[in-house]
Amino acid sequence: SEQQMICTGCGVKIQTGDMDGLGYAPPSSLEKEVIVCQRCFRLKHYNEVQDVSLTDDDFLKILNGIGTKDALIVKIIDIFDFNGSWLPGIQRFAGKNPVILIGNKADILPKSVKQNKVIDWMKKEAKENGLVAKDVFLVSASRGHNMREAAEMIDKYRNGKDVFVVGCTNVGKSTFINRIIKEVTGEGDVITTSHFPGTTLDIIEIPLDDGKSLTDTPGIINHHQMAHYIDKRDLKIITPKKEIKPRVFQLNEQQTLFFGGLARFDYLSGGRKSFTCYLSNELAIHRTKLENADSLYEKHAGEMLTPPRPEQLGDFPELVRHEFTIKQAKTDVVFSGLGWVTVNDPGTIIAAHVPKGVQVLLRKSLI
Ligand code: GDP
Repeated sequence: SEQQMICTGCGVKIQTGDMDGLGYAPPSSLEKEVIVCQRCFRLKHYNEVQDVSLTDDDFLKILNGIGTKDALIVKIIDIFDFNGSWLPGIQRFAGKNPVILIGNKADILPKSVKQNKVIDWMKKEAKENGLVAKDVFLVSASRGHNMREAAEMIDKYRNGKDVFVVGCTNVGKSTFINRIIKEVTGEGDVITTSHFPGTTLDIIEIPLDDGKSLTDTPGIINHHQMAHYIDKRDLKIITPKKEIKPRVFQLNEQQTLFFGGLARFDYLSGGRKSFTCYLSNELAIHRTKLENADSLYEKHAGEMLTPPRPEQLGDFPELVRHEFTIKQAKTDVVFSGLGWVTVNDPGTIIAAHVPKGVQVLLRKSLI
């Protein structure tokens, strides 16, 4: 019956009654071999997004259900946005279940970066965030790097149990699952992937050969993610698609870098120095004098300093300033969701400006 039909794109229940509701599909489309909801259809064919109404409570309910099952939990994070894509409370809703941590988008790191260093960093961060991970792994879901190994590891750790894949929106969870399906069955894209956070709306169960299943849970919206403050069309500008080319700036004291109009880095004091920016290659960096920075932003935000888009300026959160004196040689100033700037010397004083609600943090340099 209609009740049982599930969208192969996002996993939502198909309905034909409410054209604006979640899971709507025109009755005629139900004859097709592969049934997708109208939202996934539009996304796939026209690159259009439709707003849908799943509340945070709905997400939480689904997640809380996982703790009551006997299963392996696979948690995916975006290594480009570790903190922004971290799910707080994961240990709590995992219950007694083992968790393995997978860092996705390894392909965006410069080739010179040692994988083991990144894995050690993930382990340390996980521990600091209260997660005891059984194992940690680094993959590129879109390139298919290490995916076979990841699939094998999941199979090893699940030990005959069900698997739940969890992650924040935009970490590449759908891409990951599509790859896993390919590894397991040789089939192509079964799940919708896109630049748009929150595409996977309901639970998708993929049967495993021993009668158990691998379940894709909805992407959890983390409101600190930069992604939620910018136009969905601009997400592809800030989301790196390939290896990041580090951009080095020789700065004098009292100079400022703008990252589009989304964030700003002020170099306050420490003599002439070089700073290395790791941001999406598509995001423009503008250099100016600190004394001109405020007026430049006022005049050119949404235009030369873009994203945000002009029509968005009204809703765009104000930039909030965070000042830091760098304590350790080689420190990354992380602009959550946007990337980071490596500062080489202790004693350097800088200020980072980010939209209100977005995090700035310091960490030992990753690279
Ligand atoms: P979901 O919201 O977690 O299901 O994420 P998606 O699978 O829709 O992917 C979100 C964005 O990240 C898309 O723009 C993907 O192309 C991109 N993406 C996914 N996996 C990778 C990867 O391994 N490397 C890179 N560079 N981008 C990826």
